[in-house]
Amino acid sequence: MAFECLCCGVCCRYLGPYHEAYAVPSDPYVYDLEFTPSGERMQVSVSEEMAHLLSDTSVFEKYPESCPFLRYISETEARCIIHSTRPDYCKKSGCYDYLICDQDGIICGKIKSRFVIGADEGVSQILLNYSDIVSRAPYDVFIKTVTDALREVGYIVS
Ligand code: SF4
Ligand code: SF4
Repeated sequence: MAFECLCCGVCCRYLGPYHEAYAVPSDPYVYDLEFTPSGERMQVSVSEEMAHLLSDTSVFEKYPESCPFLRYISETEARCIIHSTRPDYCKKSGCYDYLICDQDGIICGKIKSRFVIGADEGVSQILLNYSDIVSRAPYDVFIKTVTDALREVGYIVS
């Protein structure tokens, strides 16, 4: 079945300024973007039809690590305001980079970029043990350490 994006915005909530995406305005609707998950450096533009959403920064109060270009048009529906010029990484990736399941195939979390989304208690405990690596190590060290640790205790990471 083809992947269908539900526009929930969860995958963009952890790609924000603290770790992953740095955006500097070069005019009110054009930004120089450094997008560290993929190493892309590019100029992006706020779409004309999304321009009215630019000044609504309430998303950052609720989700402070959000990508600078994420906005919500309702409680559950999100928009990327640079959709037509967004990074290749965003065009290619879906809800997650790695899926974490238990032995019964139940989803226990998803890894997107360097963040673990929707972690259950067991996964959260493992992340806690590696909190320094989760927050500070380079991506390749983070991903190897965390996936090895999860697999070691029986999670399936795919
Ligand atoms: S650029 Fe758009 S699609 Fe990519 S993380 Fe930001 S809001 Fe999401
Ligand atoms: S790709 Fe992102 S916005 Fe779309 S359904 Fe998955 S988590 Fe939600």
